[in-house]
Amino acid sequence: MLLLYLLLLFVFGAIVGSFVNVVAWRYKPGSSVFNLKKLSGRSRCPYCNKQLSWIELVPFFSFMIQNRKCRTCKHRLSWQYPLVEFLSGSIFVVVPWFLYRFYNAQHIWIDPRFFWGLVTFWVLVFLIWLLITIIDIRHYLVPNGLNVALGVIGVFIAVSKNAIVDMILPFHNSFLRQYQLILSPSQDVWFNHITGAVVGGLFFTGLILLGRGRAMGWGDAKLAVASGLVIGWPEMGLSILLAFVIGGAFASVLLVLKKKSMKDKLPFAPFLISGFVISIFFGASIIQWYLGLFGV
Ligand SMILES: [Zn+2]
Repeated sequence: MLLLYLLLLFVFGAIVGSFVNVVAWRYKPGSSVFNLKKLSGRSRCPYCNKQLSWIELVPFFSFMIQNRKCRTCKHRLSWQYPLVEFLSGSIFVVVPWFLYRFYNAQHIWIDPRFFWGLVTFWVLVFLIWLLITIIDIRHYLVPNGLNVALGVIGVFIAVSKNAIVDMILPFHNSFLRQYQLILSPSQDVWFNHITGAVVGGLFFTGLILLGRGRAMGWGDAKLAVASGLVIGWPEMGLSILLAFVIGGAFASVLLVLKKKSMKDKLPFAPFLISGFVISIFFGASIIQWYLGLFGV
């Protein structure tokens, strides 16, 4: 029965993913992401502009059965379509499942209004992070509207967390669990969420002003502030560290393979977002492993 629910969630998520694809494809720099005029109307092939029938809009299925080609013009379709549908479907399954386990909701009573509210906000955050990743890769920018949406959801996440903080297990106000004590002077939810935003903002503003991070733009700084409000401190610190490790490794591989030169720019948001996602799912394990290296 649970499996059926998860499957339904996945299918629903994949359908949402096809909408995420539409938003990402139709976004033009300088305009609003949520431009309803642009988002309405049936989907068309991006190459021949032919309006797509419902059979061409089924997640995965259409892509596979059409052999990765448009049925009309035979143009090869981007892997972005099924990939984003798959990631979105996974978000709808993995995020609620992870939070349910993390907060031990199967064993302890947590006010369901705030708990499922929290889960819903996190699903939205992951969807927006997915959208930002695609747009930054395609256009080298992070739309303001998406950062504002993240910031607003961040406030809602802090409110929900604050409401359940007395019902959850000790130290579960942070994804880094007891290791938060090493990096944060307080366990207060609001203190940590505001600190996450402030530290993220100061760090990237510093980088931009120093002119070091040539790849960094104000969009990245705003993303750090908004996501800091979402993820809080000390997760923000670990995320920034991970972002530079992943980004550095990725850039080195591209340089070695001669796919890019030192002058080329790389979008930074995907690395920062990878840092957030890894901190959430594996942050506590990473710090545990790291301290283990020193026999702690
Ligand atoms: Zn076509």
